[in-house]
Amino acid sequence: MKVISKKDWEELLRRLSGERAIWAPRLVAGRPLFGPVGEVEQIDPGHVNTLNPAKVRFFPHTETILRFRKEKEGIFFEPPPREDAKALLFGVRPCDARSFVMLDKLFLEGEYRDPYYAEKRENSLVVGIGCNLPLRSCFCTSVGGGPFGTEGLDVLLTDLGDEYLAEACTAGGEELLGTVPRARDCGESDTRRRQELEAACRSRMDPVDLLEGVKTRLDSLYDNPFWDTLFLKCIACGNCTYHCPTCHCFDIVEEAGEEGGRRLRNWDSCMYPLFTLHASGHNPRPTGKERWRQRLMHKFRYYVENFGVSACVGCGRCIINCPVNMDIRRILMAVQELDIPGGAS
Ligand code: SF4
Ligand code: SF4
Repeated sequence: MKVISKKDWEELLRRLSGERAIWAPRLVAGRPLFGPVGEVEQIDPGHVNTLNPAKVRFFPHTETILRFRKEKEGIFFEPPPREDAKALLFGVRPCDARSFVMLDKLFLEGEYRDPYYAEKRENSLVVGIGCNLPLRSCFCTSVGGGPFGTEGLDVLLTDLGDEYLAEACTAGGEELLGTVPRARDCGESDTRRRQELEAACRSRMDPVDLLEGVKTRLDSLYDNPFWDTLFLKCIACGNCTYHCPTCHCFDIVEEAGEEGGRRLRNWDSCMYPLFTLHASGHNPRPTGKERWRQRLMHKFRYYVENFGVSACVGCGRCIINCPVNMDIRRILMAVQELDIPGGAS
């Protein structure tokens, strides 16, 4: 572990920006958003959670996956131009970093490997900052994570005021820290401070385990009346899914003109009626009831079955951004408290 002054860290980012694209939290029209940074001075790492999830680097809202040209001889296909291949993601919070590990399971380790995600993911280094102070909506500790968790990170920084305590979590992180000039070795008082900060942050968070028994209960809950009322407040705006670091539904569309066009992948949402509407007019999820059931089942039952982990990192974005105050923590607690006849404990 090393201790680096914030000034020296900035200097390192400035130097690295010559060889890698830097993605970090910055203010856009007064709102903290994660995205590419032109100048290191734009970086504003103090926000516990940016409005958008850091997955935008690997899985953007909209992405060209194919281009085509129409010529006399026929139609010719070509891959999209490659983006700046190497990147450094800075200021990622541990919940967002953990979401990368969950998305990797789907995009990289499942039956199909996604080349668009893989290229960006494999050429990136991820530097996170532990959370000294959680938001009221944060619940990473209730879903298997933590405010100083290292899953998905190459380096974890702890904000000590004018300095960062830096821990390498991977060989890539080790190499990166090896290039920092003027880093000093971490002393006993630094590690003690780090432990105190983590303990203080955890003490502000509810210690409840929101996953306890949920998967087993959802296994027997598909036809339960629970779903009949759960969705009634929901206005199907899709905010919960669009802000979620683990949601990954997408749609493929084509834009074509006289001379050619492109094929795009766009984020989509299971909360929209159109998402499952068949060309025949039939919709297997015709109301909010089926759509809300799908959202919960996908995150806490199907993802566990497919990948051994729930698809929620407790970032709280779906809570903050829901216009009708749907709170996924209360919904999970309601599932845990349901009286299921002859059912799960
Ligand atoms: S479901 Fe909500 S709290 Fe969980 S990861 Fe998605 S946005 Fe964050
Ligand atoms: S953010 Fe709230 S209202 Fe909008 S779709 Fe999600 S649950 Fe429904």
